[in-house]
Amino acid sequence: MRPLRSPSLALLVSLAACATAPASREPSPATSPAGPAKPADARPAPASDSSPDWSFAATAPVDAAPLRTRWTPAELKAACDEAEKVSNGALAAIAAIPDAQRTFANTADAIEQTEADWGDKVSRLGFMKDIHLDAKVREAAAACEEQAGKYAVEISARKDLYLAMKGWLEGAGRSERLSREQHRLVTLAMRDFHRAGLDLPDAQREKLVQLRSRLAELQTRYAHNLDEEQSSIELTRKELAGLPAGYLARLKAGGKPDTFIVTTAYPDYFPLMENGQSESARKKAEIAFMNRGAQENVKLLDEAISLRDEAAHLLGYATHADFVAEPRMAKSAATIAEFEAKLRERLRARLAADTAKMAALKAVETGEAHPAIQSWDWRYYLNQWKKKEFALDDEQIRAYFPADKVMQGMLATYSRLLSVQFKKVENAEVWTAGVELYEIRDAADGRLLGKFYVDLFPRPGKYGHAASFGLGPARAVSGGYQIPLSVLVVNFEPPQGGKVAHLSIDEVDTLFHEFGHIMHQCLTTARYASLSGSNVATDFVEAPSQMLENFVFEPEILALVSADPKSPGQPLPADLMKRIAAARRFDAGVRYSRQVFLGSFDLYIHTHGAHVDSEAAARKLWADIMAFPEPPDTHFAAGFGHVMGGYDAGYYGYLWSEVFSADMFTRFQKEGVLNPKTGRDYRDAILAKGRTEDPDQLLQEFLGRAPNEDAFLKQIGMGSAK
Ligand SMILES: [Zn+2]
Repeated sequence: MRPLRSPSLALLVSLAACATAPASREPSPATSPAGPAKPADARPAPASDSSPDWSFAATAPVDAAPLRTRWTPAELKAACDEAEKVSNGALAAIAAIPDAQRTFANTADAIEQTEADWGDKVSRLGFMKDIHLDAKVREAAAACEEQAGKYAVEISARKDLYLAMKGWLEGAGRSERLSREQHRLVTLAMRDFHRAGLDLPDAQREKLVQLRSRLAELQTRYAHNLDEEQSSIELTRKELAGLPAGYLARLKAGGKPDTFIVTTAYPDYFPLMENGQSESARKKAEIAFMNRGAQENVKLLDEAISLRDEAAHLLGYATHADFVAEPRMAKSAATIAEFEAKLRERLRARLAADTAKMAALKAVETGEAHPAIQSWDWRYYLNQWKKKEFALDDEQIRAYFPADKVMQGMLATYSRLLSVQFKKVENAEVWTAGVELYEIRDAADGRLLGKFYVDLFPRPGKYGHAASFGLGPARAVSGGYQIPLSVLVVNFEPPQGGKVAHLSIDEVDTLFHEFGHIMHQCLTTARYASLSGSNVATDFVEAPSQMLENFVFEPEILALVSADPKSPGQPLPADLMKRIAAARRFDAGVRYSRQVFLGSFDLYIHTHGAHVDSEAAARKLWADIMAFPEPPDTHFAAGFGHVMGGYDAGYYGYLWSEVFSADMFTRFQKEGVLNPKTGRDYRDAILAKGRTEDPDQLLQEFLGRAPNEDAFLKQIGMGSAK
């Protein structure tokens, strides 16, 4: 899961690119800032490589204030309002400076610092929604977070701030010497102003606002239609063969005796598709599922495609996908198209093999000589395959991962790998028992680098999954370098009656992933909040954490995080580990080809002009890529919420970051997963840099070559053939 970002950085850079923003917020100006046509006279002076005034090493760490949790709802609301008031006052003062007196310090830097100050305050307040013990405070915190989201959008659409920056750039900014990082800060800020339409003539900007507001309506209606979807099918007990009794027990009774109502909601649909032995029942369910929202959603999507195309043209982009890709690692629609095409081609043989395997299982089950796998079959036969070849007992595996051992082993891994030390802060003030505070120090010189809390056990009202929350990014402040504060929120089974909690292998994996975000947030050396830590391009932010998931399956790491319940001191046996690792991606051909389909469809509809037949495109791409066609009376485009709700032209990002995470892991495979030299390179080249350079440059530096997809394909058993 992605780390929560502080809204401050978000303002000009990240919120703009945040794909998890609620649908209703997506088309706002905040999502859209920048473009290729920057006015030639409003560019920062070339960067001077000899940044005269600042280096991370020359700063002294400034400790993070403890997280305050003693709030009443009224106090929290007042603090939220006050943060906004202070920010507004500071921004108004910046806007009021006469252009002739503008400098980098009183304009670009001042805007950045004001937003970061505000962001630090509201991210701490908003976070109370996820951990506070008092429901009323959680409610006030949720309201503050919503208010902050709106405020962030408001700031990103402020023309006076754009004019202030432009005024400086066209005056003193022409000759003021900037460091590389300052230059980048200004370039990204101007790009975001452009993407928000702030440099357009008023009539066109007005048009852009209208388009985005209409898009917000369309998205809300599309999502609403899916939420409200009531369709269902009626199946007999016989048709539900293969489903467990518990599944049948919670279904509503049908109209006829011994029949059941199966809706298109996920808890009804997925178990049926994976376990239902009746092909006709699966077919009925597939058709119902693929018709969700069909009445209206295809029309809504087609209108959205047309409006996005118009907005992209207004801002000077060839297509909506080019607009979306610009601030990301991919940079252009053409790069994404090439990426999808290459993977599609290279996955073809693996998909064919997977499909043949499923067909063989179907032949045995049905007695047909050469059965075809249909679109209502693949989930079922993948599940049969998994059960047959990778029978793994999740509870048996869990016994090898005592929570304490996993936590200690994980900290030992990261400590060795990244040349840092973790030290628990004794007697730290925390919000409830089971919460711990740690500091992170550099192993070589003892410098304080960051702090994080760990909130371990579930309780009512607490955030229910595992996640890392950044509560204020690292950045230079007047007294030195502000260290970041993060929180790792997990929900381990609490120890009871002398018994320790144990984790499933998925939980161990998730823990390594989330802690990877904490490291990304805390090991940065970037000067500015909006370029700091995990505040990186949307299609790159998951890659460092995904890379660290691979560690869990390596014998050296298993020795640190697992313990054989029968022979203490021994880790999880190697053969069991091999089976777990093999099961991890057994369905790679189908799984990743489907990802290619979803990404290709998303890309197609956002690169083919204003009038796209999304239905026809979906049908053709699915048939071309997957080889088992959807039934003709279905409407895939009506139910693919990602393309309406914030992942538009960005779906490729899932596969993209997985590919680059696999590539980064190659160095550890070659040089040793606990090789501190490799770990140090990783820390310096990837984690420390944050957004101060483009991700492809970071990868180039770490890998010593351009990144490619070979490692990913090898990881899923495709060899490394070109
Ligand atoms: Zn994540």
